[in-house]
Formats: sequence, structure tokens, C-alpha cells
Amino acid sequence: MTGYYNENTILYFNGEYVKAAEAKIDLYSQSLHYGYAVFEGIRSYRNVSGQTKIFKEAEHFERLRKSASALNIPYPYNNEELIEATYEVLKRNNLQNAYIRPLVFAPANMSFTQNKVSFITIQVWEMGKFLGEKLLKVMTSSFERPNPKAFKIEAKAAGHYVNSIVASQDAKAKGFDEALLKDMNGFVAEAPGANMFYEKNGKLFTPPLGNILPGITRATVLEICHELDIPAEEKLFTADEVKQHADAAFFCGTAAEVIGWESLDGIKMKKEWNGTASKLIQDAYKARVIEKELKTEVA
Ligand code: PMP
Repeated sequence: MTGYYNENTILYFNGEYVKAAEAKIDLYSQSLHYGYAVFEGIRSYRNVSGQTKIFKEAEHFERLRKSASALNIPYPYNNEELIEATYEVLKRNNLQNAYIRPLVFAPANMSFTQNKVSFITIQVWEMGKFLGEKLLKVMTSSFERPNPKAFKIEAKAAGHYVNSIVASQDAKAKGFDEALLKDMNGFVAEAPGANMFYEKNGKLFTPPLGNILPGITRATVLEICHELDIPAEEKLFTADEVKQHADAAFFCGTAAEVIGWESLDGIKMKKEWNGTASKLIQDAYKARVIEKELKTEVA
């Protein structure tokens, strides 16, 4: 077994709850051969009252629908029903703190034509911290994010993740924790599986939409900034600017949550993580996902 499931694990597959070990897909699926599928990455948490709560479930399933639509993948599903099914899968697997992976994929089709049907699975597994709590040593990657004129970059498409895999593996092989990828014009874009922010003089900066996945955590961070009166701006910047100016920086994503950087290309962030506005945002995010009220005083 892989660690993701065992002989008792249940997943959702086209309206039914089936054993993960017994679920089968067609090896002639267009998705397997060409990466033509869309998916989501969602988390559930045990909240302060002990209940299982999926974080921003409506936003995630809406992005799944939009991703499918962007790629002409049929999406005959009702998102409210999918959300109910997700809670049911969590319950059947006795999980509260979990990673949730809906995947919409294509039938057998070795050509490039559009399909009349699609399939959906929702898989869940236990998840702790994704990139860890330790501050990250980040490397500016020589791999760029996919060009939005070549891909529907706003869609969370399976095939895009070949780019993520090569960039992340390259950074790790070079002794770093994670890669930072640029866009086709040389501006900072995002991580292989997360968005990024940097902080300067108490203000946050993040790349605008256009060349990045529109992250739900990124949107949550912007909401938190608004609530905590931390100024935030969406603008293009280079990795050199980050190295010269950043007091702090972090990646954010559903799996990664908010995770600070130690350095970029070996150049340390100018401030200790504790004491930055970024740290306040990290704390606020952690509280929000478990529905804990935070005192909103800003240091
Ligand atoms: N960018 C990429 C490439 C990602 O894979 C992810 C993870 N889904 C993100 C950003 C962050 O998105 P979210 O906050 O919605 O998880």
C-alpha cells in the first residue's frame, strides 16, 4: 500500500462509495496519456468545537467546475452534492484533518477530441503540515511557469503539474527546500504548488493574476491583510527585488498553508520571522481554518 490508502479506505467514484483498493480506471483514458484532467486540492480541519470543517469548500468546487469548463471537460455534477459526498467520504474514513483530492478525468480516447462523458473521484487521506514548520530555503528556478498563451493557466489541470514536478525535483536535487518559478517575462510567478508573498516595511506584495494559479489561500491572505490593516499590493516584481528588499516572504497554498522563507538563493530574509506582519498572517490563517477567534491586535 502507498500510505494514501489501505484495504479499508473508501473513495467517491461517480456517485458511489467504493473501496480504494478495488476502484479501477481505464488504462486507455485520455487523462492518463495526455494529462488531460482537472483536479482540486482541499483541506478539512477539526475545528475548535470538534467538528469536521472543509475550508472554503464552495470556492474549491467552483474552481474545479471552472477548470473543467476551461478545458471542455464535461462537468455534469452538482457542487452541493459533491460537497455532501466529500463530508461523507471523510466520515466513512474517520478523518477530520485531511487532504481532499477531487479529480475529473476523461474516458478511453487516444485522439485529441472532446468527450461526451467524464468521471469523478474524491479521495481523502490524513494530512499534517505539507512543507513543514521550518523556514524554507528557496531557489529561483530556471524553469518558468507554463506560458498562459500555451495553457489555460487559471485551470488546475493535471498536465500543468509536470512543470511543477521538474522544478521542484530540480530545487531539491540542488539542496533547497522548494523552487520559486518565474513567468515567461522573468517576473516572479509562484511555487510549483503554492503562491508567494513578500514583505517590505510592513507591506505585502504578491504577483497579480494572469500568470499564476488563482490561489484560494492567496485570496484568504488578502482578506486577512484587509482585516488586520496590513497593506497589500498585487504587482509584478523580480527575484532580485525580493533578494534586495524582502524583510520576509512566504508561500501559501491549501497544502502548504502559510509557510515562511529563510532565504532565497542563499540570501537570508532581512528580519526574523517572528515579529513580521507575515507571521501575524500565518497565525491568523491557522486560526481561521479551525474557526478560532483571534484577538486582532497588530503588533
Ligand atoms: N499555485 C499552484 C501552481 C498550485 O498548485 C496551488 C495549489 N493548489 C496554488 C498556487 C495555491 O492554490 P490554493 O491556495 O487554492 O491551494
